[in-house]
Amino acid sequence: MNSTAPVYQSADVLYANTDFSKLSWIETQWAAWYLWIGNPVIATGLMSFLLHEIVYFGRCVPWIIIDAMPYFRQWKLQPNKIPTPQEQWECTKQVLYSHFTIELPMIWFFHPMAEMFNMSTWQVPFPSWQIMVPQIAAFFVFEDMFHYFAHQALHWGPLYKHIHKIHHKYSAPFGLAAEYAHPAEVMILGTGTIAGPLLYCYFRRDLHIFTMYVWITLRLFQAVDAHSGYDFPWSLQHIMPFWSGAEHHDFHHMAFVNNFSTSFRWCDRLFGTDDKYRAYRKRVAAMKKSGMSKEEFAAAEKKLNAEVEAEGVQAEAQAEAYQYGSKAKVA
Ligand SMILES: [Zn+2]
Ligand SMILES: [Zn+2]
Repeated sequence: MNSTAPVYQSADVLYANTDFSKLSWIETQWAAWYLWIGNPVIATGLMSFLLHEIVYFGRCVPWIIIDAMPYFRQWKLQPNKIPTPQEQWECTKQVLYSHFTIELPMIWFFHPMAEMFNMSTWQVPFPSWQIMVPQIAAFFVFEDMFHYFAHQALHWGPLYKHIHKIHHKYSAPFGLAAEYAHPAEVMILGTGTIAGPLLYCYFRRDLHIFTMYVWITLRLFQAVDAHSGYDFPWSLQHIMPFWSGAEHHDFHHMAFVNNFSTSFRWCDRLFGTDDKYRAYRKRVAAMKKSGMSKEEFAAAEKKLNAEVEAEGVQAEAQAEAYQYGSKAKVA
C-alpha cells in the first residue's frame, strides 16, 4: 500500500499497481466506487456522508417500531414517557437540517484531512481484522474519556445554557434524539470520535479509512442505542457490565446529573459521578425485591422517577443561573 501515490491523477492511474484478482468482493466494490466517481475527494466525502445517514437513521428504525408496540413497554426505562410520532418527526427534521448544513460541509474536508494525516482512503486491500480490532478498541477508550470530560464541561452554566441545553430537551430520550444537539456540541463531542483515529494515524501511519468507517458505525450504534430508552435482559450491559448502554445514559437525561461518559462506566465510577445513579438503581432493586405487585411497582417507579426528574429540573435551573464569579442561588 503506497500512501504517497499521487491520487489526483485520472482514475485508471489510481489502481495501476493493484492486482484485482487478489481482492475480496468488498475491496473490489470499494475500488469500483473510487474509479466510478473519479475524484477521491468527492468519492470519500459522498461515501462518508451516505454511511452516516444510512447507519444513523437505519439504526433508529427498529427503535421507532419498538416505541409503537406496547408489548415492549415492560422494558422501557421511563415507561410513562413514550415519544409521540410528532415528537419523533420534529426531532428527525432538526437532525436532518444539521446533517445537511453542518455535517455535510465538514465531511467535505475529511479527505484532505485524512491525506494530511497519511490515512489510506482509496487504497486496497484493507487491513486485516487483527490490525483493525485493537485500533477500534483504542478509539472506543479514547472517545469515552474525551467525552467524559467534554460533556462535563458542557454542563458548566454558560456552556450549558448556550449549547448543551438543546440536547437535554428530552428528559426521556429516544433513538433519534442521539444527534439532536447544537452545532457547536456536534463539533465539540464529534472531536472525540474523529481525533482518536487522526492522532493514531499521525503517530503510527497505518490506518485505513475503512477501519474508521467500522469504528464510526459502531459508535453510531452505541449513541442511538444509549438514547433508545430501553433496557432489555439481552442488552449489552448485562453481558459486559462495564458497558454503559441506555440504562446508564437514560438516567443522565432524567436526572440531569451523573453519568457523563458514552460507552463505558469506568470514568463515572472512578471520579464518583455515578453516586446518584447508583442510589437510584439500589432503590429500584429494593422495590423489585419487596414483593409488591406489578401495579404497585409501576406506581412506585413512577413516583421515584418523578422525584429524580424534579431534582434534575432544580439542578438544571442551578446550572443556568450561574453567574461569573458567584454561585447563583435558585429559590
Ligand atoms: Zn448532558
Ligand atoms: Zn444524550
